[in-house]
Amino acid sequence: MPEATPLTPGITSGRLSADTLSENFDDLHPAYAPHEAAVASDRCYFCHDAPCMTACPTDIDIPLFIRQIQTGTPEAAAKTILGQNILGGMCARVCPTETLCEEVCVREVAEGKPVEIGRLQRFATDTLMGAGKHPFTRAASTGKSVAVVGAGPAGLSCAHRLAMHGHDVTLFDARAKAGGLNEFGIAAYKSTDNFAAQEIDWLLKIGGITVETGQKLGGSLSLDKLKSDHDAVFLGIGLSGVNSLRADGEERDGVSDAVSFIADLRQASDLNALPVGRNVVVIGGGMTAVDAAVQSKLLGAQNVTIVYRRGLDQMGASKFEQDLASSKGVHIVPNAQPVAVHGNGAVKEVEFEYTTTSDGKLAGTGETFRISADQLFKAIGQSLEGAPEGLTLEGRKIAVSDTGATSLGGVWAGGDCASGGDDLTVTAVAEGRDAAEDIHATLMGGK
Ligand code: SF4
Repeated sequence: MPEATPLTPGITSGRLSADTLSENFDDLHPAYAPHEAAVASDRCYFCHDAPCMTACPTDIDIPLFIRQIQTGTPEAAAKTILGQNILGGMCARVCPTETLCEEVCVREVAEGKPVEIGRLQRFATDTLMGAGKHPFTRAASTGKSVAVVGAGPAGLSCAHRLAMHGHDVTLFDARAKAGGLNEFGIAAYKSTDNFAAQEIDWLLKIGGITVETGQKLGGSLSLDKLKSDHDAVFLGIGLSGVNSLRADGEERDGVSDAVSFIADLRQASDLNALPVGRNVVVIGGGMTAVDAAVQSKLLGAQNVTIVYRRGLDQMGASKFEQDLASSKGVHIVPNAQPVAVHGNGAVKEVEFEYTTTSDGKLAGTGETFRISADQLFKAIGQSLEGAPEGLTLEGRKIAVSDTGATSLGGVWAGGDCASGGDDLTVTAVAEGRDAAEDIHATLMGGK
């Protein structure tokens, strides 16, 4: 498990007033009012063979749901969305739409301004969930039981679809709370008002799902026992190991994992009590790096720098995320890799070496520079920890077929722990759903 943030003299709480903090952590994309949704939906051309739909990993019929909003039936629009993506509410908040559906929207291509698909999706799903409605009903019980391990996006999506088909599902999670990355792994300003937990309460209304928290595979759970107690097992255990920097002095105080910082922030009841450095350096180029950097700034850090070893165009964080970071005052330094963490006990400076890339290969130039830091976050990716024995791996993930079947009969996997995919919430939801369909077909003798 990632380590917690160690405190040093430079890392203190209460840098900003409570009012400023609540303003800083307000909703990133405020919800549309109904008249705004009407105007936004009016911009859609309802394209035949819509490119936005092809770009959506969950294949939501985007022109159909936008037309349903336009015709004043947002709850029907929500059903169109949720039928493909049961976490459509969260995906509307966290999907990098600018590199998926909105990037290919014909309005974007022609005018540089796409139909705001993500915000329209949020309008529809918020409307339905706000009315307390759950639009799906559970089929008659099949008498089959399935263990779903990991209550993150893949596990939740899989559990819901299985329950809808009439199977009894036990949904296990290692943490004290369900939600996985939705609850612990994304910036607070993307999921305000405890939305991740609300969405789970809403999802469980389908019935037939028992949630058991504090149950870890390799700890209280073993794959053999799960297999003997259930008719099928789905693993959506994510990636819980944190890669190391491989730089001298990495063990100094003030150096910690960005994922722990983000989790602490999401679970904090009082942001004012959350410590942050004055000079913060984040190493990495993905969404986690941006989420940690932006939130450090919003908590009151004075200087925040993201350092990434390759060029800006290679960053995992989209252009939108990079621009968001810059707009909050975060400085991004590309083409530099960490060499050493200096300081006497606690970090004081981080030393970097400039890099070049030739033929796709990264190499240091020998030229170095230093950045002052009292807090350093590592955001250089996560790895699979505690994969059960007997499962074939592909690279460092669990090898799966197109429908999530692993090398072990009766065991499926999806989301970040499984091979393929691109580690997005929306992809994990699609993989959980597709594995559930395959499990259902297998259990009912269709395969
Ligand atoms: Fe509407 Fe844009 Fe999709 Fe066309 S590509 S259907 S205009 S959202």
